Amino acid sequence: MKAALVTGGSRGIGRAICLKLAAMGYYVLINYKSNQQEAENTLNQIKQNGGDGGLLQFDVAIRDEIKNLLGSWIATHPDDTIEVLINNAGIRDDSLMAFMSEEQWDGVIRTNLEGFYFVTRLVLDGMLLNRYGRIINIVSLSGIKGLPGQVNYSAAKAGVIGATKALSQEVGRSQITVNAVAPGFIRTDMTENLDEKELKKQIPVNRFGTAEEVASAVAFLASKEASYITGQVISVNGGLYS
Ligand code: NAP
Repeated sequence: MKAALVTGGSRGIGRAICLKLAAMGYYVLINYKSNQQEAENTLNQIKQNGGDGGLLQFDVAIRDEIKNLLGSWIATHPDDTIEVLINNAGIRDDSLMAFMSEEQWDGVIRTNLEGFYFVTRLVLDGMLLNRYGRIINIVSLSGIKGLPGQVNYSAAKAGVIGATKALSQEVGRSQITVNAVAPGFIRTDMTENLDEKELKKQIPVNRFGTAEEVASAVAFLASKEASYITGQVISVNGGLYS
């Protein structure tokens, strides 16, 4: 069985990625933090489209949970390789630096940056043994440009961009590619409190993007066709920043 693991697959961009990877024939492991109902909803949609998958609950900000839950899935499925890893789970907790609490800093760094390390560290061994893999990290415009009010989030996403470039150079010989996709403003729960009418004036295509538009870029990078693309950051932002 060839599996794909999508962290934060219960909603938004992660759900759209799960559906695309299932359509490519992958058994999709849908990770989520707490929203089991939405995770089941993703799985049902996969099954309705003729695909298959399973749920894998763990908090990417808690290293022991990752080790116990993801680690035991890997240990109990020795013949099932995770060929594709999408590090998508993320949160934002915005505040100007002058008011940012230690909790806001820690929470965003742990989820968006440290989660990348602990999940990838576990999945990478199998990819190296298999001599094939696709790792795609969902970052953000914020990690490229920096956005005011998001010092924590910009730092975390920029950190993942650096890690993407470094890791791609370590594992290229094993036919493992490592890339990042940087969305701009995408309509999901994460952006529901933003003023699209006002913000879209800055976006050349004059609208927020959809989760499916991000998932399409991810699916391409996850495909065999993208075998010579590694260490890259692909922006999906309607021309907002280049
Ligand atoms: P969303 O709609 O808020 O969904 C977040 C997903 O991540 C949910 O599935 C959630 O699980 C999961 N999650 C959050 N914290 C987690 C944790 N500690 N452990 C495991 N899963 C966790 O977010 P989204 O807009 O789809 O964003 C997806 C990714 O794209 C994030 O990395 C985000 O930073 C990035 N991004 C989004 C935008 C945008 O405009 N939306 C722009 C740039 C980058 P539960 O359902 O269990 O809570």
